[in-house]
Amino acid sequence: MKCIRIHSKIMGISEEHRPQEEIIRVLSPPHCARGPKGCDKCREAAKIKEICLLRIFFDGGMIARPMIEIERDGSKSLHEFDVLRRFETADEALQYASDNNIQDVDLS
Ligand SMILES: [Zn+2]
Repeated sequence: MKCIRIHSKIMGISEEHRPQEEIIRVLSPPHCARGPKGCDKCREAAKIKEICLLRIFFDGGMIARPMIEIERDGSKSLHEFDVLRRFETADEALQYASDNNIQDVDLS
């Protein structure tokens, strides 16, 4: 992940200025962008499901992050995401969502 930050700086793109949104999903937080096929630690991580706060990016980016499918206005597309934090319980996640006005919460 370090190299991506440096890359962004060179290109003058600040992460904060990319179109983005926070959502809550139940998933296996990926260890890195290589995914379960390319990385042992990702394979281990794929066994555990957690409630995660995700930051998704709506621009194309450089696809150096894991991707998640998001539905907006009836059409689905893949977007890069970062895991910002993990929640212990559904209640904790819902509380965070209401405190922070997060619209897209899926705990299924
Ligand atoms: Zn990995």
